[in-house]
Amino acid sequence: MTGDVLIVGAGPAGLSTALFLLSRAPHLADRLEVVDCATFPRDKPCAGALGARADKLLASIGVRVDVPSVTVDGLRLDFLAGQAQRSVGAIGRVVRRKEFDAELLRVARARGVRVSEGVRVTGLTRDDSGVTVETSRGPRRVRVVVGADGVGSVVRRALGLPRGALHAQAVEVDTEATFDDDASLLAFDFRAQDLVGYGWDFPTLVEGRPLVCRGVYDLDWGVPPRVDAAQRLTRHLEARGLAVPPSRFKRYSVRGLELQRPMSAPRVLLVGEAAGVDPLLGEGIAQAIAYGDVAARYLAERLDDGRLDFEDWRRSFSLTPAAVDLMVRSAALPFLRHAPLRRAFEDFTLSAPEALDVTTSLFAGLTPPARSAVSAWARLSTRALTLAPREVAAALKRRFPGASA
Ligand SMILES: Cc1cc2nc3c(=O)[nH]c(=O)nc-3n(C[C@H](O)[C@H](O)[C@H](O)COP(=O)(O)OP(=O)(O)OC[C@H]3O[C@@H](n4cnc5c(N)ncnc54)[C@H](O)[C@@H]3O)c2cc1C
Repeated sequence: MTGDVLIVGAGPAGLSTALFLLSRAPHLADRLEVVDCATFPRDKPCAGALGARADKLLASIGVRVDVPSVTVDGLRLDFLAGQAQRSVGAIGRVVRRKEFDAELLRVARARGVRVSEGVRVTGLTRDDSGVTVETSRGPRRVRVVVGADGVGSVVRRALGLPRGALHAQAVEVDTEATFDDDASLLAFDFRAQDLVGYGWDFPTLVEGRPLVCRGVYDLDWGVPPRVDAAQRLTRHLEARGLAVPPSRFKRYSVRGLELQRPMSAPRVLLVGEAAGVDPLLGEGIAQAIAYGDVAARYLAERLDDGRLDFEDWRRSFSLTPAAVDLMVRSAALPFLRHAPLRRAFEDFTLSAPEALDVTTSLFAGLTPPARSAVSAWARLSTRALTLAPREVAAALKRRFPGASA
């Protein structure tokens, strides 16, 4: 046995797991290793919008990831019927993943985390006494493995777990700002009705230059994508008066969490995008960091008491605020998928912009202002009451076309 814990992947999920674990169980420092096939700084297609809740969580163990970033104060949502906007002050920041991940790695090393770069994991086998992990630098024998290797997770595949049905395609490119951009807001464009998703325009800082990261997110729900996200990004750019050759686009996928599916096997558990993140908006950095915190608590206990079947990893995770947040987002998926629900959502958001106070607060890791929450809830209930009879009447009319309304 060469170690207790091998974490595959040095992205935010893997490094957070290591950092939170060492802060709980410092004695593991010599028996914990993180491996990554990349050499850092490495690129990761990502718009880099990071809710302040993630920085707060890292700060709870004294970790600060100090990189150039753009502070964002609020959100703007564009619908066919209008625009909703809320600016409340410093809800998060936009980082460059190349810089953020490299700095997180530097901080992790400074705190005693052993990280080996350029080590690719190709497979693993489990038995009663441990796990043998095949890597590009030979086999490693460990007690447990954490799969933090992202959307294409080799660890997940080695466990024989399904790919999952909630995959999205995301395509992005950095461009100059136009007169319509507000450098303090995260802008989401829901006007393309055939996208199960949205277009985005996020302020970003590329080597000191203020630019805008623009992209398109489209969830495919386990069926082949109905639209070509690159074509949709071209249209998104054209609508802003921009022409960018698709050869500059960066394309990648996002795995949404399906909490009904397994997330572990004896001696192996999955975190971050290897397990699944937010399927609604494709947000995953803060989620990856939250996974790290929860997994560290879980692992510290299990390594101590020796119960390494990890049977209850999914249950333990699902009882945390991070999982509740993901469940709420999953429950909202039909509002993106079905036109009448989508219209109802747009209608509600436009009539109750204070609902965005709740969203921005949660993104920032703050308690939503009670007044906004109550007022949004009251409006939602009223809308539901007024919409429901209309929907029922329409359904009746469809069922009994001859009847008068
Ligand atoms: C275009 C795009 C835009 C996005 N924008 C946002 C956004 O604005 N905000 C947000 O919160 N989220 C966003 N996301 C999602 C976010 O990028 C991911 O959810 C997040 O990176 C997940 O973190 P992770 O640590 O789980 O995985 P990753 O960040 O993918 O890290 C996995 C690591 O594992 C390593 N690895 C992979 N395979 C192996 C192997 N076989 N052996 C060894 N190492 C391996 C990789 O090199 C990588 O370093 C976006 C995603 C996309 C595609």
